[in-house]
Amino acid sequence: MAFEGLADRLQGSIQKIRGKGKVSEADVKEMMREVRLALLEADVNFKVVKNFVKQVSERAVGQEVMKSLTPGQQVIKVVKEELTELMGGEQSQIAVAKKPPTVIMMVGLQGAGKTTTSGKLASLLRKKHNRKPLLVAADIYRPAAIKQLETIGKQLSLPVFSMGDQVSPVEIAKAGIEKAKEEHHDYVLIDTAGRLHVDETLMDELKQIKELSDPDEIFLVVDSMTGQDAVTVAQNFDDALGVTGVVLTKLDGDTRGGAALSIRSVTGKPIKFAGMGEKMDALEPFHPERMASRILGMGDMLSLIEKAQTNVDEDKAKEMEKKLRTASFTLDDFLDQLGQVKQMGPLDELLKMIPGANKMKGLDNIDVDGKQLGHVEAIIQSMTAQEKEQPEIINASRRKRIARGSGRPIQEINRLLKQFEEMKKMMKQMTNAQAKGKKRGGFN
Ligand code: GDP
Repeated sequence: MAFEGLADRLQGSIQKIRGKGKVSEADVKEMMREVRLALLEADVNFKVVKNFVKQVSERAVGQEVMKSLTPGQQVIKVVKEELTELMGGEQSQIAVAKKPPTVIMMVGLQGAGKTTTSGKLASLLRKKHNRKPLLVAADIYRPAAIKQLETIGKQLSLPVFSMGDQVSPVEIAKAGIEKAKEEHHDYVLIDTAGRLHVDETLMDELKQIKELSDPDEIFLVVDSMTGQDAVTVAQNFDDALGVTGVVLTKLDGDTRGGAALSIRSVTGKPIKFAGMGEKMDALEPFHPERMASRILGMGDMLSLIEKAQTNVDEDKAKEMEKKLRTASFTLDDFLDQLGQVKQMGPLDELLKMIPGANKMKGLDNIDVDGKQLGHVEAIIQSMTAQEKEQPEIINASRRKRIARGSGRPIQEINRLLKQFEEMKKMMKQMTNAQAKGKKRGGFN
């Protein structure tokens, strides 16, 4: 999990100061020593660390903290604000061309995640912003890059423009933009070639594409797992091309966080998006404040709610609400709900967004790798239609059959049926309470 070490250490050091009614300079010094080490260990650029520590220390021993009633809390607030600032402060938006299409050039080293991110970004633009993007396959050097983009396009039902690998990338970009104009696409995402390291030929070619396509954004895709190297790569690309934003990929992995915390400060370029997994919906707009909040263990409810909103089918949600109200919720519906939860991403990632969930008893060692969900699915799928509608008919011999069919022990089937029964009971109680509240003119 990204930032794990950093988060643990930072949370440990702020914990000590949190409840203090009085904070001395020595307390702040002690805490900042720990913060400094934690950041360096997370592979944050040393100049960035030095500045950060200076900034926080100055504010922490200043009037705003020392004179406050809750100095411990205030110090933490300062750390959070400065961490947010370090990652760019405000969330950075995507540019929109005055005259469509808006052209976005995706650049970066090979393997950073350019092709995947191009697909994810196009999908996000369509899903969240109702845009009509065109993907352009201009990476003619990496074997199979064109095919990969085409496959992604097919998977997402998004159009991909390609001309094979015998035409120059500059020509492809030009023709792609023309095509977008003809077909009224409002965004063009050009997936360019990467190399294993920065070299002049690559940069020259990218410069030519830039000149010709006059992009509104040049997004540098960097692999956050590469830590400090990512920052150096970003500087090189920026010097040569003038990038407009950074996409950090693989933040779902166990990156220590150095790239995320240094890149903005060193290059001055905003982090626009974060790649959070291999799946096509695993791209999030980068919110510095929310990220700081996550690192400090304060949760990120806003991202969680947004995730739910983009992933859950609205019609389905309404239908489900009605079923809940009328208590006609079946095991089939339950299965459907599980599917939707699964689409939102790995459960342990979701739990991290709930404030304090990581400290909650039982949740820290819960098996949330999705395996359990798979078992529940297998069990429900082994039932007949009638059993799913009326679970009360599931007697001992039916339970045995379901256990055989799903390959799960009979206790698990019993547990699931019991849980489902309880859930229904609870729903009934809630519905009744709601109905009463309405009659009394209550506040439902
Ligand atoms: P390119 O050479 O820059 O086009 O890189 P690709 O798009 O082919 O990505 C390289 C690998 O990184 C692929 O296996 C992707 O699935 C994977 N990848 C890309 N973004 C992410 C991410 O945010 N998280 C994870 N876990 N994997 C990613």
